[in-house]
Amino acid sequence: DAKSRGRSGYQFHNAEQSARARERVRLDGDLRRAIERNELELHYQPKVRVSDGGVVGAEALLRWRRGGGALVPPDRFIPVAEDTGLIVPIGEWVLRTACETAVAWNAHQPPGAAALKIAVNLSPRQFWSPHFVGMVRAVLHDSGCRPEWIELEMTESLLIDSRGQVAAILAELRQLGFTLAIDDFGTGYSALGYLTRFPITTLKIDRSFVNEVATQPARAGIVRAVVGMGHSLGLELVAEGVEDADQAAALRQMGCHLAQGWLYGRPVPRAEFERLQAAVLGPSVRGGNVAGEAR
Ligand code: C2E
Ligand code: MG
Ligand code: MG
Ligand code: MG
Repeated sequence: DAKSRGRSGYQFHNAEQSARARERVRLDGDLRRAIERNELELHYQPKVRVSDGGVVGAEALLRWRRGGGALVPPDRFIPVAEDTGLIVPIGEWVLRTACETAVAWNAHQPPGAAALKIAVNLSPRQFWSPHFVGMVRAVLHDSGCRPEWIELEMTESLLIDSRGQVAAILAELRQLGFTLAIDDFGTGYSALGYLTRFPITTLKIDRSFVNEVATQPARAGIVRAVVGMGHSLGLELVAEGVEDADQAAALRQMGCHLAQGWLYGRPVPRAEFERLQAAVLGPSVRGGNVAGEAR
């Protein structure tokens, strides 16, 4: 009858919920130890010019080698870290590591060569942590990284936060010299007013639009409109998730500046990125390790 079904349904739900809660606690505990155990890794995915495929930098993407075993993708642990606040120290580790990489990659670029830029993802909890801008300044100072070598990515949800402080923090970051990108553009609330209110420099067009830019006229129309809007506002446009040459051709025809995606390269550990991109990295990186160069 309804009563016993209701009760067993409730109990099942309950058991499932507490199993999930236990797994979260375990995940949280393991994650707490991940930094000190050196289990976090940054992988780098190339960003290229759509016009000629030249590499202009990379996006840094976090991975967790849990217990030294398999890699855990960010979607599986960042939401938990965001809930518990662990994203604050983890995010600092990410920024510090990305800055150190940017210093190595740019240290010996030939004069006149454009700097290689690394894009770093920010989470809302991290952005709103009490000493965020102070932390950022300290990381720049410690690493010797120039802010021009780093792009900070955030999602639209962060920008439409009702706290009035958003504008002040973004202005401070932009004044320091970072460029500021909207990630997954087109999937949020698209309250476009923020594009002129805040010192945004870059739009990253979400993969769900780019996916079908060569096959779905309606999606292509959206991408064309976003690119057109970006051009009028003087924003840099990046297409995410470019997987084939037809998509690249459509984006090129529309005037999208930059792209990233499997067509150009998957996210890989730093050493592998350096091997794959040896031709565009400075001699300190190109020749293998710095110790080798010193001899
Ligand atoms: P995102 O910042 O939008 O990153 C792009 C995601 O698309 C990455 O997934 C990347 O591996 C994937 N991708 C790139 N090219 C292609 C493609 O051609 N096809 C397909 N199907 N996928 C592609 P990933 O590395 O699993 O990261 C997922 C999300 O996790 C990121 O989305 C970002 O929101 C978050 N994330 C990653 N690293 C960090 C971090 O250090 N801090 C924070 N707060 N979030 C991070
Ligand atoms: Mg991103
Ligand atoms: Mg994205
Ligand atoms: Mg995303």
